[in-house]
Amino acid sequence: MNVRNCPRCNRIFVPQGRRICPVCVREDEEKYERVREFLRDHPGATLLEVIAATEVDEDTVLQFIKEGRIEASQLQGASLHCERCDAPISSGTLCPSCQGALAKELQKAAGSLRPSSPGERETKSRPKDKMFTADMKD
Ligand SMILES: [Zn+2]
Ligand SMILES: [Zn+2]
Repeated sequence: MNVRNCPRCNRIFVPQGRRICPVCVREDEEKYERVREFLRDHPGATLLEVIAATEVDEDTVLQFIKEGRIEASQLQGASLHCERCDAPISSGTLCPSCQGALAKELQKAAGSLRPSSPGERETKSRPKDKMFTADMKD
């Protein structure tokens, strides 16, 4: 059977589309519920208040925000920063302007992958390649 060690608690588990073991997944869910309930009862709480009240560590709370499960705007002092320009953002990893810039870059990259010059297309349909394909079929 395909087993691996959980990167967090080192238990051996069968990965079923998950990076961490079922025990850690459940722990995460419980932590998430605690944070979510605390924020519902204390809107506008600070990150430190959440950590103190829920006993969930800061990294885990920030992880929930990165995953978009918790809005950073609900949480004072939990400012996320854009990975590209360091602008403050409320969720995700990039600010809206960097998201737009990245989308454009990806489009450009995808465009340059298309064979655009006639020379390239010619190389792809060389007679030699066709003969090779025919040989394989026989
Ligand atoms: Zn684990
Ligand atoms: Zn940015």
